[in-house]
Amino acid sequence: MRLVLLGPPGVGKGTQGRRLAAACGWALISTGEILREAVARHSQLGLEAQRQMEAGLLVSDDVMIGLVRDRTAQEDAGEGFVLDGFPRTVPQADALDRMLAERSLKLDAVLSLTAPEEELVRRLTGRLECPVCKRTYNVEGVPPRDGRHCNDHPEVMLRQRADDTAETVRRRLEVYRQQTAPLVDYYAAGGRLREVPGTGAMDEVFGALRQAVGCVGPARAGG
Ligand code: ADP
Repeated sequence: MRLVLLGPPGVGKGTQGRRLAAACGWALISTGEILREAVARHSQLGLEAQRQMEAGLLVSDDVMIGLVRDRTAQEDAGEGFVLDGFPRTVPQADALDRMLAERSLKLDAVLSLTAPEEELVRRLTGRLECPVCKRTYNVEGVPPRDGRHCNDHPEVMLRQRADDTAETVRRRLEVYRQQTAPLVDYYAAGGRLREVPGTGAMDEVFGALRQAVGCVGPARAGG
């Protein structure tokens, strides 16, 4: 199954996408994570993307479309994939349909996660990430056991993402409203949208997402 997780920054796409992909045996493709790794490696892609990301702006459609075209063609995506963070603009959504059609494939569903804006701001500005496993915590909602280190990597200090400062968070939400929110109507018009509230407990949201894509059995091997 080929899925897109759609929703504003902070709604839980990363956390839920990771769990969904693992439980159902699909590849998780997070464009934000790919870009952050490129920045850390100082690769050409990282150099191109860093300034935009830290300002809360989008990286160019051309760069993102090329990146997703390559990543979705890799072997681990053959059984299916969950896209987190792509598409973010209408041209990206059009390109995704085209690249899949060229391979005689199609996008099966778009899961739209929703939450009120004040909740998103609270979650993003309080978010801490493990630089090793990318697991996220939240100072209020899901704090790490000792307050500062990853539960699974006790030697590793958690850190705030460069784009989770209050000002950049406001900018990212604005960019979402202007450039990405139109995709909700875009996919609804094509009959591919399934809305899931992102505000309940983590397990509740996860259950609703699994239900929405019909992946409800026990976790698969490798997941
Ligand atoms: P969020 O947590 O806000 O959903 P991500 O981790 O998905 O953010 O992405 C972080 C940043 O990476 C974005 O603010 C943007 O600068 C860049 N980025 C990620 N995916 C895309 C995309 N599909 N198109 C353009 N820019 C992107």
